[in-house]
Amino acid sequence: MIRPCRVLGCGAHTTRYGTFCPTHKSNLRRHGHAEQTAVTKAELAPFVALVRKRIEKNADNATWAHSEARWQTVVDHARAILGEAKRGVPGNRYERTAASEVVVLGEAVTPRAITETVFAMYLLQEHDLRRLRSDEAFRAQLIHRLRGLTEANVDEWPGGRAKRLQRDIPPRAVLIMAQWIGEALGGVGVHLARLEARDREARAASAAGLAEAMRELQ
Ligand SMILES: [Zn+2]
Repeated sequence: MIRPCRVLGCGAHTTRYGTFCPTHKSNLRRHGHAEQTAVTKAELAPFVALVRKRIEKNADNATWAHSEARWQTVVDHARAILGEAKRGVPGNRYERTAASEVVVLGEAVTPRAITETVFAMYLLQEHDLRRLRSDEAFRAQLIHRLRGLTEANVDEWPGGRAKRLQRDIPPRAVLIMAQWIGEALGGVGVHLARLEARDREARAASAAGLAEAMRELQ
């Protein structure tokens, strides 16, 4: 039955068997939520810059090396899964897709760039709770930005550079990838996001203190 799309204010009609119109249905599949839009590289850039600042400020701290080693463990795990696939061991195909995506990243991107991007996503989420519409949307955008770190995942459209799109992978493979990465780096990501919030509050308090002091000037 064709009905109005479930997204409030959309006004379009659903596909024959769905609850969303084609656009919102595609958003749900690609971005993890019907109303989620893709987080762009430019949008994430200020948060990557904050992560780099934090790393610079704590250059001798072992958190960064530990984090990169944890990412390397994810890559090794993925390689093991692909090895089993090669030997003909039966396995889950979404897990194997996730594994091959992780191996591509492991080969094409530095561990530092991976960890910076992961942490930046946690900072973005903390900074604007409404930007990522659900846990699924967070996971989908996390993987979207990570896969955006290499050209290997981009399809050129015929006729040139006007439109470049990341090749899709099944949502279940995205979920598995995000789960591995979240287990490896989520704890640090959450902690770094809290540090940003703390510093932001301290700056606001200090600005308020200055404003208060200025009001008392004679
Ligand atoms: Zn719609």
